[in-house]
Amino acid sequence: NERTFIAVKPDGVQRRLVGEIVRRFEKKGFKLVALKLVMASEELLKEHYWHLRNRPFYNRLVRDMSSGPIVAMVWQGLDVIKTGRKMMGETSPSDSMPATIRGDNGVEVRRNAIHGSDSVESAHREISLWFQETELS
Ligand code: ATP
Ligand code: MG
Repeated sequence: NERTFIAVKPDGVQRRLVGEIVRRFEKKGFKLVALKLVMASEELLKEHYWHLRNRPFYNRLVRDMSSGPIVAMVWQGLDVIKTGRKMMGETSPSDSMPATIRGDNGVEVRRNAIHGSDSVESAHREISLWFQETELS
């Protein structure tokens, strides 16, 4: 059964969106496999966003992600990676359709509330980066 890594980013936690995001994934029918509130280290965040290291916003992104706690989660279910990405909307909330998580919550790309793995490979990589094997039910 497919699994994906979903995170409520610091801006989403700060804006009290944890409950709404969890509810949407539950309501869709996905199974919660793991969940924790963490202050991510710079080392972890740099590795998480390694593929974006040459982008001009990389340092800012790592700083934004260090600005407060993150709710790190693993969700499981049929096509959860692709469907989760659809539920999130586009990278920029201003480009995201209404009824998506980003489309319904704000306009700034730096405050887009949620992260979700974008492929089977990144899901595997991100789940093992953020969770110990013993934390996964
Ligand atoms: P995520 O990986 O967080 O799920 P994504 O896959 O939609 O988002 P990526 O291209 O992987 O988007 O970018 C990672 C994150 O970097 C975005 O979620 C956003 O917070 C930030 N970001 C992307 N583009 C910009 C930009 N032009 N300026 C500032 N931050 C940006
Ligand atoms: Mg991404």
